[in-house]
Amino acid sequence: MRELSEIGVVGVVGAGTMGNGIAQVAATAGYEVVVRDIEPEYVERGLDSVDDSLARLAEKGRLGDSPEAIRDRITGTTDLGALAEADVVVEAAVEDLEVKRSVFADLYAVTDDDVVLATNTSTLSITAVASATDRASDVVGLHFMTPVPIMDGVEVVVGEHTADAVVDFAHAFADALGKETWAADDQ
Ligand code: NAD
Repeated sequence: MRELSEIGVVGVVGAGTMGNGIAQVAATAGYEVVVRDIEPEYVERGLDSVDDSLARLAEKGRLGDSPEAIRDRITGTTDLGALAEADVVVEAAVEDLEVKRSVFADLYAVTDDDVVLATNTSTLSITAVASATDRASDVVGLHFMTPVPIMDGVEVVVGEHTADAVVDFAHAFADALGKETWAADDQ
């Protein structure tokens, strides 16, 4: 498993409400971010939301870096292959088990085999999502709250096969994003 200290690029799947918020907090924390959605207009809409949110936070003096510098760390794309460079991936696509299983099968195919794959699902079973891959031990829930840049808490949801080291990584990664964590059982 890739260690927290080895994380340079965060992959995010979905540029909607949660995905663009997760991309923003990861970039604010200093990571390079690749955020992937299925249509160019969804990518653009997500990045526009990030721009608006960063501008609001900058106005309130709540950013340690310039909005431009943070935004420059985020690359939006529709190219699934771009997620190959991710050191960790957080999936925030629509709340539909078949969509998430298809996304995880794709992530399993394109990412390196020591990359932790997290899902932001609110209600679906981590174990069911993870079974779309051949490395369920690397799959964990990272349940961010909305609005992601403002809310402090992240639930770490442990699937039946999630490895202990992956659970520890998930807590440490969320901590690196400035979030408090607590553990939650799978659905
Ligand atoms: P959203 O509808 O705003 O965004 C979902 C995005 O995923 C859309 O832009 C869609 O085009 C994209 N998408 C769909 N299929 C995709 C694929 N195969 N690859 C890449 N992108 C794809 O939804 P949201 O509110 O951001 O929710 C995302 C996830 O976060 C869901 O699992 C949801 O349950 C969870 N969640 C939502 C909230 C909330 O309050 N909105 C809070 C916590 C967790």
